[in-house]
Amino acid sequence: MSKSSRGAAAPSLGPGWTVQQVVERSFNSGGTDTCTKCGASVDLGERHHRVDVAQDVELTGRRLRSKHEQLVFCSADCADGWIQQ
Ligand SMILES: [Zn+2]
Repeated sequence: MSKSSRGAAAPSLGPGWTVQQVVERSFNSGGTDTCTKCGASVDLGERHHRVDVAQDVELTGRRLRSKHEQLVFCSADCADGWIQQ
């Protein structure tokens, strides 16, 4: 996982979205989610990748970071591929 993806644009989500951080996580609570890139089922109890993204939205001339999303990926390759696509 390259650190260079921090601050990168996330064109898949549309204009203004940028990558805040890419982290590897596992959750004791478990559960499953779907990989944003390939659609594979992700076991959240095992180590997987999450990408924090945010969208800057301008309101009345002020720049506000108002939207945040956290996306789930099954692997570093999927996370990198999604960011760079
Ligand atoms: Zn995947």
